[in-house]
Amino acid sequence: MIKTTFSARPTGRIWRQHQMEDIPQLAWMRPDQRLAMRAVAAVLPFAVSDYVLDELVDWGNIPDDPIFQLVFPQPEMLEPAAFQRLFALFHEDAPRAEIDAVAREIQLSMNPHPAGQKALNVPVFRGQRLEGVQHKYFDTALFFPARGQTCLSYCTYCFRWPQFVGLDDQKFAASESETLREYLLEQRRVENVLFTGGDPLVMRARLLERYVEPLLRPGLEHVSSLRFGTKALAFDPHRFLDRPDSDELLRLFERIVASGKHLAVMAHYTHPRELETEAARKALRRVIATGAVVRCQAPLVRHINDEATVWARMWTEQVKLGAVPYYMFVERDTGPRAWFEVPLGRANDIFRQAVSSVCGLARTVRGPSMSATPGKVVVDGVTSIGSERVFALRFLRARDTSWVGRPFFARYDPDATWLDQLRPAFGEREFFFEPGLRRMVEAQRVREGYRERSSMLPACEAAPAEEGSASPFAGARAGTEFE
Ligand SMILES: *Cc1c(COP(=O)(O)O)cnc(C)c1O
Repeated sequence: MIKTTFSARPTGRIWRQHQMEDIPQLAWMRPDQRLAMRAVAAVLPFAVSDYVLDELVDWGNIPDDPIFQLVFPQPEMLEPAAFQRLFALFHEDAPRAEIDAVAREIQLSMNPHPAGQKALNVPVFRGQRLEGVQHKYFDTALFFPARGQTCLSYCTYCFRWPQFVGLDDQKFAASESETLREYLLEQRRVENVLFTGGDPLVMRARLLERYVEPLLRPGLEHVSSLRFGTKALAFDPHRFLDRPDSDELLRLFERIVASGKHLAVMAHYTHPRELETEAARKALRRVIATGAVVRCQAPLVRHINDEATVWARMWTEQVKLGAVPYYMFVERDTGPRAWFEVPLGRANDIFRQAVSSVCGLARTVRGPSMSATPGKVVVDGVTSIGSERVFALRFLRARDTSWVGRPFFARYDPDATWLDQLRPAFGEREFFFEPGLRRMVEAQRVREGYRERSSMLPACEAAPAEEGSASPFAGARAGTEFE
């Protein structure tokens, strides 16, 4: 392993909502501009680190600078009426409790829990919901370690925003990693465990090691890959360079690789500038030197990266540094989406233009992809069939594996930004997957009710645990594998 040549460097300051007035780089702004950002930050999570302020934001180009848009709340992220209401409260220095109450009301109006993630994806193990785990696709379990549920800076478009404003009922199991291990011992089809958050790499290396270790012990040979979903390579490259535990973190990566498992660092890079600092490049090089493969993904967001040249530059830079372009996502249907969303037709144009201008090594990327309730749906293109203008769509991932790779068509709509706004082409009543999805949702509802009722019975009368069930949908429809 490459030894660090730097001396240990502290995290630097993290600036939060109530410290907005103290951020030196904002001192030149008019007080009402700062007040406006504070008003929005009462609703949506805000934190920014010194590294982002000092090295990523272009302070000569405010407010249009993409990195400024990536971390600083903008008035337009709220509905005009909601913004005015909060701004007035801040202006008259209203009591905290009053501001919080209004902020909460606005948060609840922003579709905080889209895609039924909690209801449909949290598995049931030995009769209990396995909190801190989501298992939507048969081969991959998402793991939310309790201590990795924060970030050093927050992306303004974050789809997990409700978790950072205390709106999410995310609960975490007590002995998380051991319970996950027991679950995985029975889930022989799980090949991947994806650590996610927040950002699991904000944890100290020693703590992360405690989470990882149970997965490396004998018995889980079928789990052939671990993944860490992280924004740290972009927001906090010094995490991998010169913190007291930087070397320890990289040794943990090496240990995972040496155990025979593949280690994928799923790096969230939103803009090529995040790859252009010296620290960012060194960090990426060090991570790759451990034997980990860095795969890169990000959503396409207006005001930040909604240009083909930006993506082409980013993918090319990633390939040059040894990373692998992986997914371009469509911004999800939650939070400040009105400010950030890009219509699917335009997203497809941007993707096609970008992908056709880069070399084959960068064309490993797939997109634009929507992570929606039934699965990951990619927009393959816009075309005409007969006299009808249509979107050609396809599942990259699906709750039911038999849906994957089967082309389907939606009526072209230049304004549609999400799957649920699309209508089937050719006069069909519904998309091919809808009956199956309805059955899954219904089966889940029945199970929920069953579990609730059975938990009120004395233990001896309680329903048997759903032992060995592959997922909450196991057995919901005979002969089909549900994910
Ligand atoms: C995207 C996603 C995964 C991982 O999918 P890959 O295509 O293997 O990267 C796993 N679980 C959920 C819920 C996802 O949204």
